[in-house]
Order: sequence, then structure tokens, then C-alpha cells
Amino acid sequence: MQRVLQKIYLSLQSCLNCGSQVRISELLLCPDCQEKILFYSDQDQGIDRLSLYTWIPNRSSIVSRVVMNLKGHHYMFVYLAYADLLLERAKQKEIRISADTIIVPAPPRRTGDRDHAHHLAEAISLRTGCVLALALERESAEMQKNLSRQERQKSQMKLHEKFTQDAVRGRGILFVDDIITTGATARAAWLALGSPKRFHIWTLANRSSLAEKPPLLV
Ligand SMILES: [Zn+2]
Repeated sequence: MQRVLQKIYLSLQSCLNCGSQVRISELLLCPDCQEKILFYSDQDQGIDRLSLYTWIPNRSSIVSRVVMNLKGHHYMFVYLAYADLLLERAKQKEIRISADTIIVPAPPRRTGDRDHAHHLAEAISLRTGCVLALALERESAEMQKNLSRQERQKSQMKLHEKFTQDAVRGRGILFVDDIITTGATARAAWLALGSPKRFHIWTLANRSSLAEKPPLLV
């Protein structure tokens, strides 16, 4: 049944990049775009960071479009397909996620929203059997307005009231977001979680270490 629904769903979808409706894969890409996006496969992150694609502003528009357009899609099997890709990549790099790891999505802009960081985290949780915890929330603008810029960065996130430091202490954390740019969000999450020793960041795309990268095909 699941398979049939998936087939029907995919037959109604268009490619996240070019809009084509021909042979859309479970990653929501047409065969051409699926090949094209491989040029932006992200290969050289350390073991603490894993992302599928490298995002180069003004150049890798396929990556931006795919990440942006994925936001409107809420079918779990799409996120499961992206989770599978991340887990495959982790395996290649011999990254091991221990069973005590907690999967924590980047908190949504509005508390209670289920955005795609949430869906991706849920998919990774389903595939690994690790617990999904909506452990973080954004600090309200009201609380932040009297702080300096540096203080604001530090305090932009806090533990959700349902979670205590004890609940997360000593556990591995896998922080999931759609895209990592400056790393400020991941850093705020790490601080809010009590600076855990084992902290992995998994994203669909990343924009770090660009300067060192060789030019890629457009
Ligand atoms: Zn396409």
C-alpha cells in the first residue's frame, strides 16, 4: 500500500529543480537534475559534520532550489530517502551513531511548527532507531532585545521546558538542520544543550569551507 501511495504521489510531483514531471525519483528530482546535483556532493567535512551537498552562493543554484523547494513537501518517504543518503554517506566515512544518541532538529521559527529540519530529523530517527527529541526552542525576541550582539548569539536558543540538562547529559547528540551557513545556529544549539562532547551536525547542504574548495562545475 505504502509503495502504491508513493508511486501515485511521485507521479503528481515535479522536479525540485527544473519542474519537469518526467520520471521523478523519491528524492523529488528528475534524472537530469539528480545527475547534475552530484557535482555538488559534499565530500570533505570532518567526522562531526555531514551534509549531502555543498552550497555555493550564486553558483550552485540547483542546491538552493532543491533545499528551498523541499520545504513544501511533507511526505515522510521523501525525507526517508534523504535520510538514507545521509546514512550511506556516514557509513562511507565510517561515522558511527551510537544507540544512545538523541536526534535534535533545529527549532522552527515558530514554536510548534513542523518544518523540514523536523521531518528530516524524524526520518533519521526512524531509520536509526535513535530517539527524536524536540529539545530546543528559540528564545523570544522580547528576551533578546536588551542583549549585545554577542550575547544574543549565545542565547538565541534554549532547552525546551520539557527537557532538563540531566536528560541530555552524557548522551550523543545528532543535530539536524536543512542548511549550515556560518554555523551560528549549530553553535547556539550546542551551547543550549550543555556543550555535549559528542555532537554531530547533519544537514542537507553546507556553506562552510568554501574558500578552500576548487571551482566546481556550474
Ligand atoms: Zn529536473
